[in-house]
Order: sequence, then C-alpha cells, then structure tokens
Amino acid sequence: MIDLHCHILPGVDDGAKDLSESIKMAKKAVEQGIRTIVATPHHLNNSYENARLQIIARVEELNQALVQENLEVKILPGQEARIYGEMVEGYESGEILPVNDTPYLLVELPSSHVPRYTEKLFFDIQMKGLIPVIVHPERNQEIIERPEILYQLVKKGALSQVTAASICGDFGKKIKSFSLQLIEANLTHFIASDAHNTSSRTFKMREAFDMIQKKYGNELVYLFEENAALLLEGSHIYKEVPERIKKKKFFKIF
Ligand code: FE
Repeated sequence: MIDLHCHILPGVDDGAKDLSESIKMAKKAVEQGIRTIVATPHHLNNSYENARLQIIARVEELNQALVQENLEVKILPGQEARIYGEMVEGYESGEILPVNDTPYLLVELPSSHVPRYTEKLFFDIQMKGLIPVIVHPERNQEIIERPEILYQLVKKGALSQVTAASICGDFGKKIKSFSLQLIEANLTHFIASDAHNTSSRTFKMREAFDMIQKKYGNELVYLFEENAALLLEGSHIYKEVPERIKKKKFFKIF
C-alpha cells in the first residue's frame, strides 16, 4: 500500500517530534501493509516552512535510518503546501515540491474557507503542467457547507484526497458521512493517512479500506490503490465524472 500524505519527517512540523517517533510511525505503517510513504511536511501554514531542498535532504536521512532498522518501507519526498497567491512563482523558484517530483501538487486550503482566488490559481497551476490535489476537503468548513465549490474545482481539473481517519469516523459523524458522500459523487481520487503520530493521529489506512470494501466492494479499493500508484509514476489517474452532492432533504413535522 502507498500512503501519499504523512507527517513522518522528524522535527519539521507538528508530526513526528524526533527520529524515534518517525521510526515508531514507520513500524506502524509496515503493520498496516504500507510500503511507500510520501513525507509531506507542512509548508507556509503560518507555523512551519519546509522548502523543497530541505525536505529532499531529510527524506534521504530518514531512509538511511529506516534501512538500519531493517524496516521495509521507503520514504519519498513531498510537501503539504498551504495555498497562497504566489504558489506558481514558488514552484518556479524551487520552493514548492510536488509529490516525488511528479506533476501532482498537494495543496492545503485554510480549514475555515476556500479563498476566492483558488479557481484562478488552480488554472495557473495547471497551465504550468501541474495538477493540484486538494488535501482533506472533507474537513474544510466552507466545502462542507457548499460542496458545489469542490464540484466546480474538480470539474475544472483539480483532484482531492480524503483522510483515512475521516472515513473511520475519527473526526466525527458529520465528517465521516461527508467523506462517503465525496466518494459516492466521484469528488475524491485518493485516500491517504495524514498521520502525525502513532496515537491521536495515526494511519487508519487498513481500517478505511476495510470500510470502503464493505460498503462499496473491492473495485473501489483497487481504484484508490491504483490511483496512488499512478500518481507516484506521474501517470494519468482514473477519474469518474464528478457529480453534485445532493442536499439532504429535511422535512419539518408540525
Ligand atoms: Fe497533513
């Protein structure tokens, strides 16, 4: 299994505090059946800065440590960059790092809203040959209230990644059911852990895929697993036609 979003690099953000915690996380990942992890430290989210070259160097160090520990899991470089107006310039100057130097760029929106310039910026990003992947749209307040925003972005070429723990209900019932709605409406293309540690924010990939398998069958599990592999190759992923999320009807009883 491949995990495309994980805060496993030691001491760079609110993920693994030190190397021993990174190793603990790697062990947990191996238990889950994960063999490839993309390290995606926060960048420019008001607290942390992790530019391209620093990430690549730290990924190399972590891989060496994991080989010494005899852990069969490989770390690849990535970044969870918070959206900002000069993202294209940031890519050109070598600050922004798409996943493993493929065209796929993980983009984090603020948790409360979707900036109005997002659509224009995503257009510009795509004009550079990159593909924006919105991380955890199921936890964005404005998308929860107006899923039409995500529908429009996906229709115009953006992709999205739902967090495994959201599907398992770790962020509450509302976020769980919204995550399932996103899957059903073809508004998400990848499942990843966004793991920060081995306790409160752990992997839950196996559990999420078990749930998807029970609810929707093997085909969808294969699709998500295949998409993660295709992303890492820099190939085209499978995309079904996105649909609008139907508003649940509420009946007043008088
Ligand atoms: Fe994250």
